[in-house]
Amino acid sequence: MQPMSTDKQNNFNFETLLEASVKTHGHLCPGQVLGVRMSMLGLRKIGIDDPKGKDRKSLIVFVEMDRCATDAVQSVTGCSLGHRTMKFVDYGKMAAAYLNLKTNSAVRVIAREDSRDRAKNYFPDIEDKYKAQLEAYKIMSDEELFDVMDVTIEIRPEDLPGKPLKRVKCDKCGEHVQDMRDLTVDGKIYCKACNEGAYYKVSKQ
Ligand SMILES: [Zn+2]
Ligand SMILES: [Zn+2]
Repeated sequence: MQPMSTDKQNNFNFETLLEASVKTHGHLCPGQVLGVRMSMLGLRKIGIDDPKGKDRKSLIVFVEMDRCATDAVQSVTGCSLGHRTMKFVDYGKMAAAYLNLKTNSAVRVIAREDSRDRAKNYFPDIEDKYKAQLEAYKIMSDEELFDVMDVTIEIRPEDLPGKPLKRVKCDKCGEHVQDMRDLTVDGKIYCKACNEGAYYKVSKQ
């Protein structure tokens, strides 16, 4: 079943994309449906119809959540952390932004909070809320599911795919830092862990 939306205009096939994302993610969930729909919409808005083929070097995605939907965004767009084409921005929001590097066109797509309540009305006979939500998200319109914001995104050269622009040694811990994530304080070079404090503590040996 295709969603009741203008996505029919482009090359994306919702069912095929959903199937692929479920395979990668490991299960079918409302997040997969939302992430697939969100990405189809975002890509269409920035004029990208072949994200894994001819457009693969033109696309950067910013995900604002590390949840189920994130895997769907990765599956549809082909963007990943490892390719530096997916940027994780830890906002805890069900939103993602899609940037076309060739045209600089960018949109931010946000899942509407009221879509959860609306979803209930679509399948009142399905008792399992989760299932009702999942099925509703498949057929609700883009307008019901998402808000779309035209945005400008300036991406720094050191954040683009390609070879690291710089590689230095931290004066404190001796570990190497690339991609200009180092900081110079009073003439000394520090990694972020040494300068800001690390997320880990070294265990006693
Ligand atoms: Zn999931
Ligand atoms: Zn260091």
